[in-house]
Amino acid sequence: MLSVETITAGYGAITVLRDVSLTVGANEGVAVIGPNGAGKSTLVRALCGLNPVRSGRIVKDNREIHGLPAHRRTAAGIGVVLENRRLFGELTVRTNLDLAAREGDKRGSAGRRFSLDSILALFPFIEQRLDAPVELLSGGEQQMVAIGRALLLQPDLLVLDEPSTGLAPKIVKSLVGIIARIRGEGVSVLLIEQNVQLASEAADRAYVMKLGRVVDEIGPENWRGAVKDESLTRAYLGA
Ligand code: ATP
Repeated sequence: MLSVETITAGYGAITVLRDVSLTVGANEGVAVIGPNGAGKSTLVRALCGLNPVRSGRIVKDNREIHGLPAHRRTAAGIGVVLENRRLFGELTVRTNLDLAAREGDKRGSAGRRFSLDSILALFPFIEQRLDAPVELLSGGEQQMVAIGRALLLQPDLLVLDEPSTGLAPKIVKSLVGIIARIRGEGVSVLLIEQNVQLASEAADRAYVMKLGRVVDEIGPENWRGAVKDESLTRAYLGA
């Protein structure tokens, strides 16, 4: 479904990502873990078109997409929830979701998986908050609205950049079930996380990034077991 092939990307004269390669298959949950500054957010920005790819390729469903602007990558089925969520804070929850639903409708009915009703089923609290401005919601609630908005764009691949950041442990735990339900709808998930516990419960396998490179790949047979091993956290996250 997604193949990132030896991409290089950065900011101005600074090169951050060097020869980064990874794949995400249909119905797969894949994690990218690594310490602060490893280049995880830069990878997300390169995937969604916010940072140009300087060399290498990004291929989605056998089509090169690394030259496409952000909105055309959305149309290619990549939904992204950035770390800062990027919601329209002064607009209501309903308007934020409606704007996404309208955009998602443009993709036609073939790949449609999510409606406002299915988002409310996934996040029941939203129903009471539909007419509230997004900026009045808690961080956890905003994260869920941001995920709901990304899903209404009807992606078949959802990229989540550190969804656990700033959330209470109870809400972080609930993310595991939410990601499982999203995957249950046939959406692949690429989960960028420093919270290895969450990543291990939500993803089937992982890539480890350090200093802008993928330094290790942990397959499904080792991933869950490896997480119980504290040496993994120490070795990979520098904790
Ligand atoms: P974190 O978890 O702290 O966000 P990360 O793994 O996502 O870390 P990035 O945010 O991608 O890492 O940052 C990787 C490197 O790129 C860092 O050295 C950072 O200083 C640099 N960097 C990030 N944003 C910019 C920018 N706008 N201009 C210049 N350098 C940047």
